[in-house]
Amino acid sequence: MLTQIKGLHHVTSMAADAQDNNQFFTKTLGLRRVKKTVNFDAPDVYHLYYGDEVGNAGSVMTYFPFQNMGKGARGAGEVAETVFSVPQGTLGYWQERLSKQGVKELAPYSLFGENRLRFAGPDGDGFSLAEVDGDSRLPFAGGPVAVSEGIHGFRGVTMRLRDEGATAELLKFMGYQPVDKQGEFIRYAVPGGNGADYIDLEVLPGASRAAQGAGSVHHVAFAVDDRAAQLEVRKALLDTGYQVTPVIDRDYFWAIYFRTPAGVLFEIATNEPGFNRDEDTAHLGEALKLPTRYQQHRAQIEAHLPPITD
Ligand code: ZN
Repeated sequence: MLTQIKGLHHVTSMAADAQDNNQFFTKTLGLRRVKKTVNFDAPDVYHLYYGDEVGNAGSVMTYFPFQNMGKGARGAGEVAETVFSVPQGTLGYWQERLSKQGVKELAPYSLFGENRLRFAGPDGDGFSLAEVDGDSRLPFAGGPVAVSEGIHGFRGVTMRLRDEGATAELLKFMGYQPVDKQGEFIRYAVPGGNGADYIDLEVLPGASRAAQGAGSVHHVAFAVDDRAAQLEVRKALLDTGYQVTPVIDRDYFWAIYFRTPAGVLFEIATNEPGFNRDEDTAHLGEALKLPTRYQQHRAQIEAHLPPITD
């Protein structure tokens, strides 16, 4: 069993409009845009990162906005919901705030003893806020939501599956332990994590398969401290029979990827070097940052990207 994984690092989804996406995460949810760059494999598409003040691992929601992309179809074999942690007693504030801003599919509910509020992102993305007592991670102080009500970071994600068997085995191998069960949900937690410590499995044997599109999670990334820990995890996964990519430099972290038996793309990402490696913390996310190999094409890339107004 691995001990290097410290919770989630980031969650990456797809969107149909960069401007709507930026407005929703910075203005409606009050996260900070910590990086504006491009998809390293398709530089005509943004890669937008939203999180806490510095984009600590476990707080970072990222998007590839493919302009006018069709919506995904929800189903089994995907991350169905991304859950953010908010302070105890703030769901009333959030329900009013989100309702006033026209956010769709608002629904209060309870799961694993947590008060939660479900809501949809701009493309029908599945989200919930969960009230968590004593989450010490600081919400971003520079946005439109006060720190007393702000988002601490992720609580975790819910994976929707037809059958939990192989995914449960993988999670246990990665260091997660089953800690609770309610109806069709089974909760896994990683000890010693960064706060984004939970993976909930929603088991729906009759569900049709999800089809990816706008509003779908593209992949979920797990955090390790450094490259040494990442290489240990990579070797252990390879030894277990997983096909794992080589280590890829993503400028703000190092990444490896592999697909789970249920078809969900997992990434293992390092906490180093972080989002302030090429921008001052005071100005994170403001300038368009390009990886070195695209620098010479900056004018052409900028001409193709849709404008984002903050
Ligand atoms: Zn990623």
